[in-house]
Amino acid sequence: MSGTSTGEAGVAYVDGRFLPLSEATIPITDWGFIRGDAVYDAIVFSRGCLFRLSDHVERFGHSMAKWRLEIALPPGRIREIVHEVVRRSGLRDGLVLIIATRGVPPSLGIRNPAYFENRFYAFCQILPPIAPAQKLRDGMSVVISKVRRIPEQSLDSTAKNFQWGDFTQARLEAHDRGADNALLLDYDGNVTEGPGFNAFIVSDGVLKTPAHHRLEGITRRTVIEIAERSGRRWEEADIALAELKRADEVFLCSSAGGVFPVIRVDDEIIGDGVCGSVTASILDEYWRLRVDPEWVEKVDYGDD
Ligand code: PLP
Repeated sequence: MSGTSTGEAGVAYVDGRFLPLSEATIPITDWGFIRGDAVYDAIVFSRGCLFRLSDHVERFGHSMAKWRLEIALPPGRIREIVHEVVRRSGLRDGLVLIIATRGVPPSLGIRNPAYFENRFYAFCQILPPIAPAQKLRDGMSVVISKVRRIPEQSLDSTAKNFQWGDFTQARLEAHDRGADNALLLDYDGNVTEGPGFNAFIVSDGVLKTPAHHRLEGITRRTVIEIAERSGRRWEEADIALAELKRADEVFLCSSAGGVFPVIRVDDEIIGDGVCGSVTASILDEYWRLRVDPEWVEKVDYGDD
């Protein structure tokens, strides 16, 4: 097992101030902490280029609205803060988190969230690979978790939020079963998503991605746009477990990991057991776009 120390490089924005990540603190009574009552977004940057920042900030606004959180900062100011934490950190590659929490109870006896002043935090730090490079390139194994994805009727999964109970149990189950990660089904037995990533299958050259109980990932959207540009058919639909297992290719995607193939689901080998050609071409195009001037905002470090 490997890890990074908490004293690593990075910059945070808390209570209107920028400070080293290692000095950033939040009030322990914030419901973001004690109830996981928070929404967030995660923006990657490579070579000083923030990928699809406006799209992330827009989704963050939707997540807040769905969670009934309000902060005083307009989207333009949030974008500036994102640039500023990266600029001050000096990091060229990493991840920025923007977070809105319910906040602290205004006084001890108040439990009605309607009276809380919601809070905003941001920080940037390095982003270690989510899996060994060889697995990200050649393919990972996933298990289908016994834990079902919380239905979108109970918790709006299109709001990017901190309530990860189902994901965390699924990830632990994957660990116990010797797999790299997990996918969760809904209560009808269809594929949803996994702890921090969306899923696609490729069958007869057509891309398919789950329609329900999943986040509208920015990487997912990027994959769809790559498919559209290259004239490849795609659809959003229910994917039953049997369909997943007999797909020609399966891949997962997220800002933190990019596009990464799956070569085994439970005990079934997917396709030829290697990264398929459709996945490989989408993966290559995705990494090209990550630094494409059309898709990124460059951070001004003042020394380039
Ligand atoms: N699904 C969930 C539950 C996530 O938490 C994430 C990212 O953290 C994703 C999907 C992928 O979304 P994106 O591509 O915007 O990073």
